[in-house]
Amino acid sequence: MEKLNPFDTILKQIDMAAEKLKLDPSIVERLKHPRKIIIVSIPIRMDDGRVKVFTGYRVQYDMTRGPCKGGIRYHPDVNLDEIKALAAWMSWKCAVMDIPYGGAKGGVACNPKEMSRGELERLTRAYTAMIIDEIGPYKDIPAPDVYTDSQAMAWIMDTYSQFKGYPVPEVVTGKPIELGGSEGREEATGRGVAICAREAAKHVGIELRGARVVVQGFGNVGKFAAKLLQGMGCRIIALSDSRGGIYKESGLDTLAAIEYKNRTGRLSGFQGCEEITNEELLELECEILVPAALENQITETNADKIKAKIVVEGANGPVSFGARKILHQRGIFVVPDILANAGGVTVSYFEWIQNLRREHWTEKEVNQRLEEKMVKAFNDVLALAKQYNVSMADAACLLAIRRIADAMKKLSL
Ligand code: NAD
Repeated sequence: MEKLNPFDTILKQIDMAAEKLKLDPSIVERLKHPRKIIIVSIPIRMDDGRVKVFTGYRVQYDMTRGPCKGGIRYHPDVNLDEIKALAAWMSWKCAVMDIPYGGAKGGVACNPKEMSRGELERLTRAYTAMIIDEIGPYKDIPAPDVYTDSQAMAWIMDTYSQFKGYPVPEVVTGKPIELGGSEGREEATGRGVAICAREAAKHVGIELRGARVVVQGFGNVGKFAAKLLQGMGCRIIALSDSRGGIYKESGLDTLAAIEYKNRTGRLSGFQGCEEITNEELLELECEILVPAALENQITETNADKIKAKIVVEGANGPVSFGARKILHQRGIFVVPDILANAGGVTVSYFEWIQNLRREHWTEKEVNQRLEEKMVKAFNDVLALAKQYNVSMADAACLLAIRRIADAMKKLSL
């Protein structure tokens, strides 16, 4: 079983790109180091009167192509190496999408499931206050990530605005619509996944109408990806959440499954379906598999058993470094996460532009712009995959690193 420090994966990917792109060693040296790491100790008065100190991080990986951009996660496992790796991937994701941002990531090691709303608000406001000089609309723009949501973004915006003395909605994205959030943001990541699946099917020569689709994870990414792929004519044969999967070979209705999950809090028991485990779900015979739950779901242990023709990485890191190689060797077309799930950051970018211009675009306009950006990025990555005869995953890395390295060269240190 592979157990890689996520930052080691980043370094391996940079070395691969350096060799293929024949990068100048001084650029490679820069690419391997985050520009700034901020670590704070955040004392919070808990509801029971005790003071607890939480460790918070913000890593600004790269600012060469624009201000830093990246989510903030609340999770007990948050640690510096993970945040460093996620910050590097954010800068690559923005470069792949060709949006004018660098990359960042933040996090607080805490267990939000065990904290009250009041404790979470105090934590979010105190964390923001402690990094207030480091963030800003032209410096570093946070967004939601694992276990942070639009409410947390509203608290960040409010804390920052109080400090400035006037409203600054453009300091964060993923806000509630009432506070300057964008139309289409909620569906954006799933929409980007569905667009990548459609483009991949076109490339591989699979007819989308009737194509069998399996989606692991039925949260923000998975449910919208399934809904939109069904709308494109696909047959959704299996879905899952943390409790397990449901399967129906003739195809199930995603909208009814969303309604059922909202009502009961689970997928199991959904009418007319067989119950399966998450492991079985990944190994189903299908045209398109979308792992949209957690990292490391397809590893060297099960990569040989995957029967999909296309895998679209909805989650961050659902296919391990080693498993990607195996799938590529087996002729399975994998759309990597930094391309497949970049719809979210792309609409975050649209939100930032709307805030800076004090505009509010329609959902139709947002979706049209997202469609254009996703198709262009997919084709840019595909062109490089063909040019270097590498997988889409390697090509996405090459494209991102080439764009960042080219920008660095123009600054000629
Ligand atoms: P979410 O919390 O809304 O949903 C996660 C889903 O996965 C839930 O349905 C949960 O039940 C399910 N799940 C949890 N453990 C599981 C397991 N062991 N097997 C199967 N399903 C399981 O999260 P999300 O926002 O949909 O994010 C999913 C992934 O996509 C994460 O890796 C996240 O980092 C990534 N991502 C999300 C966005 C976004 O805009 N939401 C953007 C980019 C990347």
